[in-house]
Order: sequence, then structure tokens, then C-alpha cells
Amino acid sequence: MSHRHFRRAVVTGGAGFLGAHLCRSLVETGTDVLCVDDFSTGDPRNVADLAGSDRFRAVRHDVTEPWEVPGPVDLVAHLASLASPEHYQRLPVETILVGGSGCRNALELAAAKGARFVLTSTSEVYGDPREHPQRESYWGNVNPIGPRAVYDEGKRYAEALTLAFARQRGVDAGIVRLFNTYGPGMAEDDGRMVPSFIRSALRGDPLVVLGSGEQTRSLCWVGDTVRGILDLARHGGTGPINIGNPDERTVLDVAELVRELTGTRSAIEHHTAATDDPARRCPDIALAATLLGWTPRVELRTGLRWAVDGLAAEWGLPLPAAGR
Ligand code: NAD
Repeated sequence: MSHRHFRRAVVTGGAGFLGAHLCRSLVETGTDVLCVDDFSTGDPRNVADLAGSDRFRAVRHDVTEPWEVPGPVDLVAHLASLASPEHYQRLPVETILVGGSGCRNALELAAAKGARFVLTSTSEVYGDPREHPQRESYWGNVNPIGPRAVYDEGKRYAEALTLAFARQRGVDAGIVRLFNTYGPGMAEDDGRMVPSFIRSALRGDPLVVLGSGEQTRSLCWVGDTVRGILDLARHGGTGPINIGNPDERTVLDVAELVRELTGTRSAIEHHTAATDDPARRCPDIALAATLLGWTPRVELRTGLRWAVDGLAAEWGLPLPAAGR
């Protein structure tokens, strides 16, 4: 595993959940970081702790509009996206445009600067998978006109565009396919499974499980995911490479674990299943292990405990008295 050092990185979506953790890791390892975010779902407060560092700067910009960055850049990490179903179903047009035009502008920037480029794609490119666990060679089973298509197809387009820039324009590009990731720094209104369960548990509201809860997810601790993104950036190569934790759990198991770790009295409530909700989701991570030497290190119970503590403090919601 090579340890290429980046001098100056542009992180799009840098004020979001993963972006803020990535900016922090880069600054801590001596890289200057320009965070580019329109703050649509991200929040400048996510990177407020970095504001004092002379290695860090944040600018407000919508990446679907072209932009110029003065000075040298040797890494463009493209994370900007509407990533939660809550957001991308409210803003479908913006979602597919950030998947397409946003990625194009980020690739143009990398091409102009001769920078390494990394796209954070998603396990959603596999759709409702017919192969299990999902290997990178699987082409996926995506409904191109369903309510999730703006996100899934946007990312599939972004992957194709990234490969086109690599082949035709010589951009040194890599793709990571991230699976569900959780941890501190998620917005209270994020709407994805883990923060929703934790929020409901802390407020004493019912934990809403869509459908039977027998559908599976594989949850990865944020520190492991961010390390995977940086490993591919530094190692070189195109991928795509799955980054996720293969510890597959049913949604109901995750809800029960959150109830236990928060000590909440909240009940579990079942609502109608979401359209095109994948039945199973689990990464095959053999490629990441062989190529990058990457495997997740934090097991679910430990990570969820850290997430509960971190998010309770960030959101100002105390743990129920019965908790731990
Ligand atoms: P997030 O919503 O917390 O962060 C996304 C950031 O992008 C936000 O700060 C938002 O303001 C910004 N953004 C959105 N549209 C923009 C635009 N047009 N211009 C500039 N900024 C814009 O999401 P996240 O969980 O941090 O996800 C980061 C990336 O990782 C996304 O590309 C997402 O698709 C991918 N991903 C995340 C997960 C996960 O479980 N967290 C899983 C798979 C893939």
C-alpha cells in the first residue's frame, strides 16, 4: 500500500456527514483542504472545528455550476450529493443534476489541475440485487424510473462519466462504492435509518420500521469508511471498490440494538415498505482487502454506542434515564 501524500485537496460536499470527517482526516495528515458545499443538506457547523486551521477553507458553491479554483490541487474528492432518500425524494431534479453535472464539473476541475479524482459512489448502483453478497462485477438491478432512480441512476451515470474522463482525458480517477455508513456528525433530520432510529429512541417516539424489517443492511462505522476512501485515493487505481462492513443485519435487529443501547422505552412501529427498497444489502469486500489491505475495524455494537453518545450530545437530546 503506497502512502501518496496530497498537498491540497478539494472536497465537494465537505460540510456533509462523510465530507466533514474526510476534511478532518486530510487536515490532520497535513493536507490543505478547500471544502466546496452549497450547504443544502450539509451544515457549516460540521466543519466549525476546522475553521481555526490555516490548512482549511470552506466556500459556498453549487457544484452543478462550473467553478474555478485558483492554485494547484492534487486531489478532488467528489462527495457532493443529496444522499438521503428523504432529501432526494423531495428534490429529485437537484439530485440527478448533482449526480450528473456536479460530477462533470468536479471531473473538469481534476482534469484541469492534473489531480487525482475520487468519486463516492454507492451500493445503490446494485439496486435490489439478484446477487448476494454484492461484488463489484455485478451490474445491478435498478428501476430506472422509480422514485429512487434519481439517486441510483445519477450515481451510475457518474461512474460511467468518471470512466469516460479516465479513458479519454487521462484523469487519474477512482471510484468507491460506499455501503451504509453511520456515526457522529449525521444531521438530526437526515432521515436515513440509523440517525432516524437514534432520534426516535432519544425522543421517546416509536422507531419506525418500513415493511417487515426482515430486509437486511450492512452498516459501516464512519472512521472505517473514510479510511477506505483515503486508501483508494492514495493507492491509485480506478476500481470501483466496495467499501462497507459485511456484518449483515436485519433492519429489525438494528432497531432492537438502538433500543437497547439508548435504554429507551420507545416501541417499534411498522409502516408501509418504501417503493424499490432493496431486500438485501451486503458488500463483498475481497477486492478492498487484497488491493488496499482495507477491512473494517469497528464492530456494530461498539460503533452504534459511539454514535448514540455522539449524536445525543450534538443534537442536545439526553439519553433516557434508564439508559446504561
Ligand atoms: P450528506 O448529505 O451528509 O452530505 C452531502 C453534502 O453534499 C452536503 O453537505 C450537501 O450540502 C452537499 N451538496 C448537495 N448538493 C450539492 C451541490 N449541488 N453543490 C454542492 N454541495 C452539495 O451525505 P453523506 O452521507 O456525507 O454522503 C457523502 C457522499 O457519500 C455522497 O456522495 C453519498 O452519495 C455517498 N454515500 C454515502 C453513504 C452513507 O451511508 N453515508 C452511502 C453510500 C454513498
